[in-house]
Amino acid sequence: MEFTIPAYVERVLDKLKENGFSAYIVGGSVRDMLLGKTPSDYDVATDALPGEIEELFGEYKTIQVGKKFGTIVVVQKEGNIEVTTFRQDGEYIDGRRPEEVFFSKNLKDDLSRRDFTINAMAYNKETGIIDYFNGAEDLKYNIIKTVGKPEDRFKEDYLRIIRAVRFATQLGFTIEENTLNACKLYSKYLSNISMERIQEEFFKIMTSDKPSLGIRLLKDIGALEVFLPELMEAVGFNQRNPHHENDVFDHTLCVIDRVEPILHLRLAALFHDIGKPHTLTIDEEGVGHFYGHDKLGAKMSKAILKRLKASNEIIDKVSLLIDRHMTQHANLKAKGLKRLLARMGEEEIFTLLKLQKADRSCSNRNAKIDDLIEREEKIKEIIERKEPYSTKHLAINGDDLIKLGYNEGRIIGEILNYLLKRVLEDPDLNEKEKLIQIAKEQFKMSEK
Ligand code: ATP
Ligand code: MG
Repeated sequence: MEFTIPAYVERVLDKLKENGFSAYIVGGSVRDMLLGKTPSDYDVATDALPGEIEELFGEYKTIQVGKKFGTIVVVQKEGNIEVTTFRQDGEYIDGRRPEEVFFSKNLKDDLSRRDFTINAMAYNKETGIIDYFNGAEDLKYNIIKTVGKPEDRFKEDYLRIIRAVRFATQLGFTIEENTLNACKLYSKYLSNISMERIQEEFFKIMTSDKPSLGIRLLKDIGALEVFLPELMEAVGFNQRNPHHENDVFDHTLCVIDRVEPILHLRLAALFHDIGKPHTLTIDEEGVGHFYGHDKLGAKMSKAILKRLKASNEIIDKVSLLIDRHMTQHANLKAKGLKRLLARMGEEEIFTLLKLQKADRSCSNRNAKIDDLIEREEKIKEIIERKEPYSTKHLAINGDDLIKLGYNEGRIIGEILNYLLKRVLEDPDLNEKEKLIQIAKEQFKMSEK
């Protein structure tokens, strides 16, 4: 079988071969080519040593990414290629990183240390696919299976457990039975793995086509318990409320699949009801309520995402979406909508609506979202007509007020907020003269 490989990749392979080295495309790129997908990047493995690679590609810009680990990035305008010396991992002592890495002259060594059979193939034009571990067959039958004994391979690096779930989720594959059993057996040791590494795989799960597959798998193998115990409380948590047909966990899985694969939206969907198990009250009719679960959920999501070492930007966006997700039930008039818009901003207001539509649609089979569609239209109108909704949009600013004679300090903010309140009720008031008039009527200037 022959594949079309971009010229800039071929160039790197050819140069190595012309100089007497062997060179292959390896790992995820081969898997993707066999799946008929264009690889997002190409990794090359070779028996040339890092120093030799650098010398050979002297006319290009090269970047060392840990020369010790044998990877040199060759930079070309069409894209970067990671060129890595064949490796053979040394002893794994702590289930994390090999104590030592040995360079090898042998492709098979390099492929043997890779995690799954589907990720352990090599290709070049002369040899075609090299597949010592039946990766092509597992790919054909949609199977995730470790190279070698799963127990041994997971003990070397427990992150591979999450990677198994990640590939199963992204590709819609099944984890082979022995591999799955080893996942269950060793998932508790994921506590040894750095959160940064877990986060990377977890976010890939969350942005796949059907993240519910991954979250369910993580629960079934006991991994969720280790790094997201808060979500375990949702499992089987009966809402005792006729508006909610499912337990919180199943409802959550429905919502994450239904929203677009935007990381912070997916995360907000995953954590939006995380406060529910902590806020249940039951009324005289025996119906469950969850007052304040939105605020609590926002707070909990901050702590969780901090633990996962997410960026502050992600943390802020996710917690704000969760904090406001219950506004779907409020009967907001123009003024209320503008307040919400001011808090969310012109982008996140629409992300919030996406979350709310999915949340509603997943709560029970008769749920309607007409009101949310109508709300979306109204918000678009406010923005299009440039109706003022924030103190920034007022026809007057703090400097104007100071020039009028008000003292610098808190009073300025108070006046602007008051003026905004009036303008939200009546946009026609947003003219400088009118606003000055109102300010003077309502706020005394202090004696100088
Ligand atoms: P993606 O397309 O999502 O990047 P990928 O298969 O390229 O998928 P990477 O995480 O970029 O995944 O890893 C590249 C290759 O390195 C893998 O295909 C696999 O062969 C190997 N690999 C990566 N991480 C590990 C690991 N923890 N243990 C063993 N092999 C690994
Ligand atoms: Mg990759």
